[in-house]
Amino acid sequence: MVSRRILLVALASGLAGAPLAAFAEGDDHPKPAPRKPAPRPRPAAAQGAPAPRSTVNEYPKPAETHAPEIIINPDEALGRLKHGNAIFARGGASMALPSWARINELSNGQKPFAIIVGCSDSRVPPELVFDCTLGELFVVRVAGSTVSREGLGSILYAVEHLGAPLIVVLGHTKCGAVGAAVDVVTKHSHLHGALFDMALPIIPAVLEAQAKSPADLQDAAIRQNVRITAERLKSADHILADRLASGRLKIVSACYSLSTAQVEFNI
Ligand SMILES: [Zn+2]
Repeated sequence: MVSRRILLVALASGLAGAPLAAFAEGDDHPKPAPRKPAPRPRPAAAQGAPAPRSTVNEYPKPAETHAPEIIINPDEALGRLKHGNAIFARGGASMALPSWARINELSNGQKPFAIIVGCSDSRVPPELVFDCTLGELFVVRVAGSTVSREGLGSILYAVEHLGAPLIVVLGHTKCGAVGAAVDVVTKHSHLHGALFDMALPIIPAVLEAQAKSPADLQDAAIRQNVRITAERLKSADHILADRLASGRLKIVSACYSLSTAQVEFNI
């Protein structure tokens, strides 16, 4: 049913126009509180001129020959994200670079504790928003926080082979990609080529949000879009469904506020 509606909207939209204007977004993000960077000391050989990664070999290898197993359940993973975002939102994130030892350790494998399906927007990098570092988040990003077939494959890899126990579909306020989809629906704006392909998966969320006559359609569509995407993931593959049923996986949606830097989880 939804696909028919999408098709109708697509046919009504035409194929010409100036889509880039649809991505113009305001930025009411306040100046962040001064941060207190606490860069971790680099080895002497790595200071001064940028050191090539090969210098890692100059340092003793960690005892482990594989990435450390992280025994963490979905709720613990969610708690870590919430805690990290709380640190980021109050301006306390360290922005510290990982140590060379950690970089070296991760060269042997990874065990990210969460998968973030996010928007490409430059203001919402998951590692910063959740105060995480190398090896902690497995990130799938495309404008509008949608999941393509390739994106689903990436997610399945992280769940099945890396053991990630949590998937967060993360939208954000004033998302330009969702705004473009809203304009397709409400103004019959024209997006050409791949830009329309980007907006197309978001249109069902816009239509569902529109049916509720919200005061702010774009904001309602942003929140509906991540909810729909998270719900669809739950049955998108038997691997995800099985792990959900056994309690080894959790899939939630969330929205990041550009104004407050806080992530609101839909749980
Ligand atoms: Zn966005």
